[in-house]
Amino acid sequence: MREIYLDSNATTRPADVVVRAMDEALRRHWANPSSVHRAGQAVRHEVELAREEVARLLGCRDREIVFTSGGTEADNLALLGSLAARPRRRVLVTNRLEHSAVRETAEKLEAAGTEVVWLEVDGLGVVRLDVLADVLARRADEIAVVSVMWANNETGVIQPVEAIATMCREHGVRFHTDAVQWVGKMPLRLGESPIDLLSLSAHKFHGPKGSGALFVRAGVRLDSRAIGGPQERGRRGGTENVPGILGLGAAAAHARVWLETAERERLEAVRDDFERRIVAAIDEAAVNGAASPRMWNTSNIGFRRLEAEAILLLLSERGICATAGAACSSGSLDPSPVLLAMGIAADYAHGSVRFSLSRDTTRSEIDAAIEIIQEVVARLRASMSVA
Ligand code: PLP
Repeated sequence: MREIYLDSNATTRPADVVVRAMDEALRRHWANPSSVHRAGQAVRHEVELAREEVARLLGCRDREIVFTSGGTEADNLALLGSLAARPRRRVLVTNRLEHSAVRETAEKLEAAGTEVVWLEVDGLGVVRLDVLADVLARRADEIAVVSVMWANNETGVIQPVEAIATMCREHGVRFHTDAVQWVGKMPLRLGESPIDLLSLSAHKFHGPKGSGALFVRAGVRLDSRAIGGPQERGRRGGTENVPGILGLGAAAAHARVWLETAERERLEAVRDDFERRIVAAIDEAAVNGAASPRMWNTSNIGFRRLEAEAILLLLSERGICATAGAACSSGSLDPSPVLLAMGIAADYAHGSVRFSLSRDTTRSEIDAAIEIIQEVVARLRASMSVA
């Protein structure tokens, strides 16, 4: 059976250049980059070349890159490291649409006594700038960091991050963005932007899992969360994951070249066509966030009165890998809080499935997927009417 992988927001296939770089790292560059002998210094050189590649992809300086174990750690470091570095600023500002790496960190801090301001979102799933403006006007001196993600992992909805960062900058407030679903898929020029902290993860753009980075603008003070090592200029202790870092460097170099092609526009047209044909062919199917600014690779589609779990199971049997933005609890699927916060009706949210494309996705895969999705939904609806 042909496998059609439409779950690229979960992870992507490592590019061949990434696999080669990691293989080299394990075979040849296995010395400790902190060692002063020649073998160690040769590995240090490779790590610094990888840092350069990541900085080129982001349009920032090499020394502004801190390697981490991925997006989750980068998000944690941005929030916790900011609070720890400036103890007089005790307020955190974020929103409920964030990935759990930010949302649950904020919830945990809130339970432990930190004040968290949860920004409202509008019907398009976009953070309300008027609410943020009000918070900044009243509380700028108390805020440790404002954290708003760039592109949402479930819906692809894009936040006006540059505008938010500019507002924060005007009030002297630090701004972090979780750009895990943005980096490698969209161009970036951090040198010219007011963003202070930005998280990325290699495996979302054809790099390895367990490898990522936090961009920390020069001059932004951050306390390390991993204690006991001077690595990464004291911001992230622990002997470097050299294969992961070299894999990330290779993925960044590859992404930079890819972003210069017209592939992104081509794939966006394929995604749009996919949505148009699904909505035309299937009754009571709706694209979540259709009217919102969205990433080119993400389609979140609600099939009314169906359960996402049942759809995914049948799709998987037919070779399609997709996912639902829902957490399984006590045998039933809770609709995604992200969809509910956007005002998606519960009978659509329950049956919402995320399809996410990558550079590797082909038009013929999409054509085949449309047929299979149609058949699966028809089968489930037929079984409902019999029952
Ligand atoms: N932030 C977002 C928006 C994500 O989509 C993910 C991964 O799903 C993460 C953070 C976590 O990244 P990692 O898997 O590298 O820890």
